Amino acid sequence: MIEGPVRSVTIVGGGTAGWMTAALLSQLLPSVAITLVESEEIGIIGVGEATIPALRTYLTLAGIDELDMVRATQASFKLGIEFVGWRAPGSSYIHGFGKIGRDMAWLHTHQLWLRMAASGDPGPLDRYALNCVAARRNKFCFPSGDNPGSPMADIDYAYHFDASLFAAFLRKQCEERGVKRVEGRIVDVVRDGAGGKVAHVVLASGMTIGGELFIDCSGMRALLIGGALGVGYEDWSQWLPCDRAYAVPCTGVSPLTPYTRSTARAAGWQWRIPLQHRIGNGYVYSSKFASDDDAARTLLANLDGTPLADPRQVRFAPGRRMQAWSANVVAIGLSSGFLEPLESTSIHLIQTGILRLISLFPGRGFNSADIAEYNRQSRFEFEDVRDFIIAHYKVTDRVGEPFWDYVRDMPVPDSLAERLDLFRSSARFFVHGKAELFREESWVQVLIGQGLAARHDPVADLVPEEALAEFMADIAEVIDEVADTMPDHAAFIAQHCAAPSIPA
Ligand code: FAD
Repeated sequence: MIEGPVRSVTIVGGGTAGWMTAALLSQLLPSVAITLVESEEIGIIGVGEATIPALRTYLTLAGIDELDMVRATQASFKLGIEFVGWRAPGSSYIHGFGKIGRDMAWLHTHQLWLRMAASGDPGPLDRYALNCVAARRNKFCFPSGDNPGSPMADIDYAYHFDASLFAAFLRKQCEERGVKRVEGRIVDVVRDGAGGKVAHVVLASGMTIGGELFIDCSGMRALLIGGALGVGYEDWSQWLPCDRAYAVPCTGVSPLTPYTRSTARAAGWQWRIPLQHRIGNGYVYSSKFASDDDAARTLLANLDGTPLADPRQVRFAPGRRMQAWSANVVAIGLSSGFLEPLESTSIHLIQTGILRLISLFPGRGFNSADIAEYNRQSRFEFEDVRDFIIAHYKVTDRVGEPFWDYVRDMPVPDSLAERLDLFRSSARFFVHGKAELFREESWVQVLIGQGLAARHDPVADLVPEEALAEFMADIAEVIDEVADTMPDHAAFIAQHCAAPSIPA
């Protein structure tokens, strides 16, 4: 007998994960009935405000106008992340989205840069990437293909937004499309017999909500996947020792910077996310290397504006759910795992989780091959991002601080160790599959920025010195000129997508 598709989906949780899931499913599968249960009493985690460029694809697929989103969420634009003090105290580099320079035959710009750096001073690698130069000058505009060959075509960008406003914005879109929202606290999850599928959830009011497919977006509580189904969690704290964060908003300051800043601190790092109405800040730290009091004090002592609230603590366990999909429950968002927000990847993992679910959307029989494929892809993705984040800690020249000494000396997963070896020997980098999120440009900027002593590709030695110097000088000059013509970030927002002024 051929089983029909699932026609009713129940989403548990109304944070970023829940509403992003509802928005995309309601747009792409309009004939599926969607119910979302959330509890105002429990609330949402309320952090998670920096994104990566792929979110633009999500907005397009979900039928959302980006400028509407920017206005509704007090968003700003993001050209990359500045890493301050990660290589050594006082150091700074930018991991910019977008392209670095231009290739000479098959030699990528970083190879030419390393060759020049071996015998002279080509200036920072940042200088050869428009995203980075524009970020340092607080400039922003959308990419433009008007002038083929101009670095302007290669600008890539993401957003910083207010997480609570983003969830509220998506909720409005979803309700207009017929998503049914139920307010209430779930107190029980009932399964069909021992070991069976989830049949319904029970609210404190006594109301029950059924569904064929349940999506667990209940955050770190993982009510269904962990609580009811008992799916275990793989802990990665041996590589990622940060397990707590304090978050605090502060008043905005000028200039409105078009990038996230991550500043290394004694036991972790501090984020700075500029929005139109305020700045989001947080200190991600390891409780083995700093007390809570020290962490809160450090954060408050390093704000650019006046704090707007008391610091709020969040505790987390780095790692991933062993199976993101089990029986008729798919975990999306924090219930499926957590990697610290160093490269702003969690919201992206929500997006890919939903898209993967759509590409493997189940029939009512819940085919085990579909489930296995979903879990295989999910595991690959989490491990891939994990390795990139660990690389930021492993490759550092910071010495004499217990936290940094630990991460610099710790053994890393083989998959990362092999990558670092290859890069050290010839600065070559290869992606291992289409599903890898961070491509060569990202790894190159981070590994060089963190100070990995990489030798250039021997082929770069075949380029005559003078031709090399001329080629690189031309790249830097063009980027410098193009960046100058770009508008100021704040002026760009004021002209195209200023948000209503609200108290922060
Ligand atoms: P939540 O926001 O916690 O939502 C859970 C939902 O489940 C809520 O609606 C809650 O009410 C509901 N719920 C729970 N229990 C019940 C119950 N019993 N009954 C009814 N409803 C229930 N990601 C990024 O991409 N970029 C960042 O910059 C970033 N920064 C972060 C900083 C920190 C310190 C942390 C911890 C995370 C960060 N993240 C970041 C991750 C990001 O916050 C999350 O991926 C995102 O907010 C999704 O959360 P969620 O929706 O899974 O969970």
